[in-house]
Amino acid sequence: MAKVYDAIIIGSGPAGYTAAIYAARANLSVLVFQGYQVGGQLMLTSEVENYPGFEEGILGPTLMEKMEQQARRFGAEMLPEDVTAVDFSRRPFVITSDSGSYLARAIIIATGASARWLGLPSEQRLQGRGVSACATCDGFFFRGKEVAVVGGGDTAMEEALFLTRYASHVTIIHRRDTLRASKIMQERAFKNPKISFIWNSEVIEVLGEDAVTGLRLRNVKTGEEQTLAVEGLFLAIGHQPNTSLFRGLLQMDEAGYIIPVEHTMTNIPGVFAAGDVTDHRYRQAVTAAGDGCRAAIDLERWLESQAHEEALRQEALTSGEHSDQ
Ligand code: NAP
Repeated sequence: MAKVYDAIIIGSGPAGYTAAIYAARANLSVLVFQGYQVGGQLMLTSEVENYPGFEEGILGPTLMEKMEQQARRFGAEMLPEDVTAVDFSRRPFVITSDSGSYLARAIIIATGASARWLGLPSEQRLQGRGVSACATCDGFFFRGKEVAVVGGGDTAMEEALFLTRYASHVTIIHRRDTLRASKIMQERAFKNPKISFIWNSEVIEVLGEDAVTGLRLRNVKTGEEQTLAVEGLFLAIGHQPNTSLFRGLLQMDEAGYIIPVEHTMTNIPGVFAAGDVTDHRYRQAVTAAGDGCRAAIDLERWLESQAHEEALRQEALTSGEHSDQ
């Protein structure tokens, strides 16, 4: 008979791994679907300076590796595959991936969010040829070159600052005239001599045949167009939740973020959600980790209450049989 896990956790970011640490340490049998891109968004980050406990900062990938090892230490099993289908209509729940189907009494969804793109055909065509959504991954290739970053949030500032290590100049293109980024990140960007800004502007075309040679920009106030010569374009315009697998099954807001209905439990009893997949506001490693902890505790209590109800049912059945005799 196929093994039934107490918990299957989908996702290997801070929420998924923290849930795995808590659930496995509570003696539950745990399987983590890590996805083919193991480690979540922090794998695309360089220095993480605000995760408590690392006063000198820690590299994103190192932090994720530590979390994975900590979960393994308590017996959590890891599967570096994407989930391709879920069946929440029966118990135990069924989770399917390329290697087969797996059963679980309860589920934690921690699939996170992914970078958003502008949606231009030229942007898509030149992805990996100068267009990127990850400075940490691709910044190295732009040594001594001019690049642009689109966005006005913390990610845009962080990406631009990181890129100054390699690029000769970084232009931040923002669609408004004020930044959304936190004060400290704004100040760092304003102070950096390698960073300049183009305000109230959007990218309408990425230029170049096989590699990026420039951008066509339009001023959203005046309609005026200009060309900016750059060899790299980095998108930092936010994220979207990875919830397409659960559409129509779980309650979500209009942007696709899962809405938990009771603490971390979704509208399907026994299915929990944690981290960026439920959170468009904070999106921090530490808040995702905290969420993973909450989901694991909720799951553990839910399994206990299920076991208790089952015991009462059995007791009622047995006493029924006795009174029949
Ligand atoms: P964000 O705060 O949502 O900012 C997205 C930016 O992209 C905004 O400036 C937005 O413009 C712009 N934008 C969105 N769609 C666009 C489009 N189609 N075309 C052009 N521009 C577009 O996202 P984020 O910067 O990824 O940050 C997400 C969260 O993570 C935030 O809570 C942030 O504080 C946090 N974070 C923190 C750190 C850190 O503390 N070190 C680092 C990274 C992220 P508008 O401003 O006009 O809406």
